Amino acid sequence: MIDLHTHSTVSDGSDPPGRIPELAAAAGCRAIALTDHDSLAGLSEARARAGEIGIGFVSGCEISCRAPGSASMHVLVYFVEDDDRPLAVELDALRADRHRRNLALADRLGQLELPVTYEEVLAVAGSEAGMGRPHFAQVLVANGVADSIQDAFDRYLATGRPGYVPKSRLEGPDVARMARASGGVAVLAHPFSLGLDGPELATVVETLAGSGFGGIEAFYGRYRPEQRAALVDLAHRFDLVATGGSDYHGVVKPDLTVGTGQGDLEVPDSVLDALERRRS
Ligand code: AMP
Ligand code: ZN
Ligand code: FE
Ligand code: FE
Repeated sequence: MIDLHTHSTVSDGSDPPGRIPELAAAAGCRAIALTDHDSLAGLSEARARAGEIGIGFVSGCEISCRAPGSASMHVLVYFVEDDDRPLAVELDALRADRHRRNLALADRLGQLELPVTYEEVLAVAGSEAGMGRPHFAQVLVANGVADSIQDAFDRYLATGRPGYVPKSRLEGPDVARMARASGGVAVLAHPFSLGLDGPELATVVETLAGSGFGGIEAFYGRYRPEQRAALVDLAHRFDLVATGGSDYHGVVKPDLTVGTGQGDLEVPDSVLDALERRRS
């Protein structure tokens, strides 16, 4: 069993990067990927800890890309390092824009007369770099204007809601190109977030395969067995690797556990070799 999708305090997870390999080993995983949003900053700490406890480590990140309407397209990139290659340079630019967006978001929520300040959210997030909407949601809950993180999104923070402030996004094919130029490989995360199904989803996946994607995430923590099976079929159809992971975030997504997701996840070890072969 492996887990190729986890988040740490470097983005919006609640465990420090070094804790993720420990949780993976305890769950019985042979390898673990750290895939923080828009950041490679946790990789060296997580890799070092994985080495100490003797579990395989895959460097990664998750990038939010442009998608039509209220849909979201997240792209996981594997085998990338925190260096000066194209993907890492682009992530620096994305983080600068995230900072601008967070300041604007705090202003917007203030205009809506909601009890939340930039400083409060920063205290919850721990750092400017990983700060995002889930941290704003946590503060809105703590200050009594939302019942849960999901409720905070539904009322204020989700796309199209009154508190929504966009940040700059890449196109999926751009991420695939930069991933390859940096020695990595791009994978479409939780494909049903595109809001598509059947032939429409197949058309998008076919296009992504043609633009250099190496895989799609089929074994996803929150998908039902029949959804996972449909995505495995789609991967085979377009010669992509069917990858998988829990999307563990700690207390931010309390239903998801490293390795086993909601309890029934088991990503085969063979996925990692298959993904390695897509590097070029
Ligand atoms: P940000 O990168 O700061 O815009 O926040 C993105 C994070 O917000 C992702 O980790 C998502 O899990 C979470 N998120 C985005 N949209 C929603 C939504 N509609 N409901 C719940 N969580 C969401
Ligand atoms: Zn997240
Ligand atoms: Fe995601
Ligand atoms: Fe994720």
